[in-house]
Amino acid sequence: MDAPKAIRKPRCTMIINPGDKFGRLTTVERVFRKPRWRWLCQCDCGAQTIVASHNLLASTNSCGCWRRDRLKSHGLTECAEYWIWVDIKQRCLNPKSRSFVWYGARGITVCDEWRDSFQAFYDYVGPRPSRELSIDRKNNDGNYEPGNVRWATASEQARNQRRPKQEAASAAGA
Ligand SMILES: [Zn+2]
Repeated sequence: MDAPKAIRKPRCTMIINPGDKFGRLTTVERVFRKPRWRWLCQCDCGAQTIVASHNLLASTNSCGCWRRDRLKSHGLTECAEYWIWVDIKQRCLNPKSRSFVWYGARGITVCDEWRDSFQAFYDYVGPRPSRELSIDRKNNDGNYEPGNVRWATASEQARNQRRPKQEAASAAGA
């Protein structure tokens, strides 16, 4: 696996270490494949794949099986749970999201497992029981994580959100 000495390892290769987990992928070792260093990765499904570092850091999270499984078992675009998952990640993790101020900015986040894997999220919450329901956090100051979420109606959620409203009001009055 030795590469020509003249070829520098890019910085993004260096911040990844063997054993790091990216979704279903676990890095095994750096390998040189023209024109750059890449990572040999072990996928949870048993396959191995070689991925460029910047793709690992950006979006690649399986050998390709994740997308196949997702399409097979959920039919992505018709899968409401998928868009709910996308939305949760947006409001918690994307400062440009309109809802970020109520979630990410308040320190509410998504557990690592769910952040990295729609399948893990879906395995826990299961299919949405009906169209009126969305994901609610039992503890409104808690994260999206196992134990703190349930399917709830809008009115159930409104009841659950009273506390933080008072908090916001007293903060504004102070
Ligand atoms: Zn795989």
